[in-house]
Amino acid sequence: MNPTQHRAQCGTRAGYLRHHSNKELACDPCLAAANKFHTAYLIRQGTQRSCRISVSTLRLLLDDPTAGRDALAAELGDLVVSAISGTAPSTP
Ligand SMILES: [Zn+2]
Repeated sequence: MNPTQHRAQCGTRAGYLRHHSNKELACDPCLAAANKFHTAYLIRQGTQRSCRISVSTLRLLLDDPTAGRDALAAELGDLVVSAISGTAPSTP
């Protein structure tokens, strides 16, 4: 395998797929994006029934759902939060 290269797409699922098609090791931001995509997929399929969030985010979610959702999106990613809530992601 070639050493990991960073591109403009890095940090996205497309970036991960580019690494894969080039038979490279994916960089950490691309791995994180691919993991979030996969987690969202499993949630939408009903296969993944739990996920770990921090107590501070859970507390914020209970106290102020709007601010809590933003904190949850920062912690889990918008794609995962959208999969949990059954809505479309707010970012493309
Ligand atoms: Zn990358």
